[in-house]
Amino acid sequence: MIKHTVKQGETLFIIAQKYGISLSSLLAANPNIKNPSLIRPGQVVNVPTAAPERTIVIPRDSYGYNEMVNDLETLRESYPFIKVDSIGTTVMDRSIPVVRIGQGKKEVHYNGSFHANEWITSLLLMKFIEVYAKAYVSGKKIGTFNIKSLFDSVSLWVVPMVNPDGVQLVQGKIDTNTSTFANALRINRGSRDFSDWKANIRGVDLNDQFPAHWETEVSRRASSGPSPRDYTGTAPLSEPEARAMADFTRAHNFRLVSAFHTQGEEIYWGYRGLEPNESQHIVNRLIEVSGYEAVRYVESDAGYKDWFIQEWRRPGFTVECGYGINPLPISQFWEIWGKVIGIFLMGMYV
Ligand SMILES: [Zn+2]
Repeated sequence: MIKHTVKQGETLFIIAQKYGISLSSLLAANPNIKNPSLIRPGQVVNVPTAAPERTIVIPRDSYGYNEMVNDLETLRESYPFIKVDSIGTTVMDRSIPVVRIGQGKKEVHYNGSFHANEWITSLLLMKFIEVYAKAYVSGKKIGTFNIKSLFDSVSLWVVPMVNPDGVQLVQGKIDTNTSTFANALRINRGSRDFSDWKANIRGVDLNDQFPAHWETEVSRRASSGPSPRDYTGTAPLSEPEARAMADFTRAHNFRLVSAFHTQGEEIYWGYRGLEPNESQHIVNRLIEVSGYEAVRYVESDAGYKDWFIQEWRRPGFTVECGYGINPLPISQFWEIWGKVIGIFLMGMYV
């Protein structure tokens, strides 16, 4: 709480604007002011340093693209230091938002929903942005993490939903009178149940699109054409969503990246021996705070974290959140949250 002395010409509205808070939260902090239009110069008013207490990101079923975009707008209004930009557009011309929070030199990147039916990862990241922002303005710690010092030392860049078209398809929110939907329906062998769908809207698996032994991945994968999952596409980065992620990553200097997927409660941390020595040390800390298992190598190439490790020789992780069958039910949200919150914070701290 700050004590503000009213100056000549100031109204409560002007004071609220000055501190970037709403008039209602300013009024709430000053119950002694009976008539807001009658404040005088020299009078002292309380200015709350915490943002409004309202919860913005509410975990719920079928949390999709529009819900995310609306919440980002509200988050930005409530926490003016949150910056929202776009890294590019999808096949269906949806803008892919990126969120920046924090002002440090150290750049860290998290992303979610590379895979369409893993949309709960977008919700986890959105919730994290809110909880982190709220802790920052209220000066609170989260667990043992000092949020003010994290905020000052790290710029966190989050792409909550890499594959918005795919998420909309899985959630039954694509206009069925379009040729794009007709094509997806054909790829799905006529079934309108898209719950197994991982790919982008034209049947390319975005996490099989990166130039890291992509040809090996082509020969390994069973799908030789557009498919709900595991199709590499005709060339690396043939899809706009994968290209946007590659361009975005190249434009930064990330010290660490984590791609959030479901499911398995595992953290993949190696790639063909190209990962730096510190990756092992970092993954040990990530499993300490989550209880997840560390897995060094899997028979897989061309993933986002593979490419990041190969190109930068820095720590890159794929975090498989939760346990069960995708899409994981929303009822698992808080249980998963309790395990990944430490992964989110530790990834910035290390
Ligand atoms: Zn996945």
